[in-house]
Amino acid sequence: MKHLIVANWKCNPNNLVKAKKLFSVVKKGIGVVKEVEVVVCPPFVYLSKLFGLTLGAQNCFWKNLPAGRGAFTGEISPFMLKDIGCKYVIIGHSERRRYFKETCAMVNKKLKAALANNLKPILCIDSINQVKRGLKGISKKEIKKIVIAYEPIFAIGTGKACSINKAKKMNFSIRKILGEQAAILYGGSVNSKNAKDFIKKAQFQGLLIGGASLNPKEFVKIIKKVSQV
Ligand code: PEP
Repeated sequence: MKHLIVANWKCNPNNLVKAKKLFSVVKKGIGVVKEVEVVVCPPFVYLSKLFGLTLGAQNCFWKNLPAGRGAFTGEISPFMLKDIGCKYVIIGHSERRRYFKETCAMVNKKLKAALANNLKPILCIDSINQVKRGLKGISKKEIKKIVIAYEPIFAIGTGKACSINKAKKMNFSIRKILGEQAAILYGGSVNSKNAKDFIKKAQFQGLLIGGASLNPKEFVKIIKKVSQV
């Protein structure tokens, strides 16, 4: 299976010029790396301005609106994301659960809405309970389209990545529930020094990267290291 590396830019950078620059440096740096699928998830407002790499959104509305539109001020429907060329959408990131009080029930609705619009969801979880509750009522066939990102909260943005052993155990526990073929990423303080171990030793299919994805040199270095595994 091809490795998958997802950049979560969060609420960065703070203007379009910087966003375009970051994107183009990454694109150039990656060159013709074929062994890794690279996905960039910028803030919504930059999505339609960036070209040449696979795009993902960082969130979407939980309702599958008829024709993708309706009276829901401030929301972005999965239909709209698909329409502007997004392939992926991050759902249930721990920052959204924490600061915006997203519950597993909301996450579950978002997954269903994304799937109904042919977006590939990246479901972020930090426990098995969140896997089970997030996927409630979703058919086995649809679950196969979902990427799971194990992101232990203590490791997000702290510089303290999860131990390889603990991450590997969680990877295997999720596989026990979803099957051997499940696409599972690790996220949490990944850098060019530890990236390879999460792939090679902990056997994840890929990585979800926050902080390090804003440093193009470091991000490209991670991609190149993973491409050698
Ligand atoms: C994230 O927020 O998804 C993440 C993995 O962040 P960081 O790499 O900065 O820990």
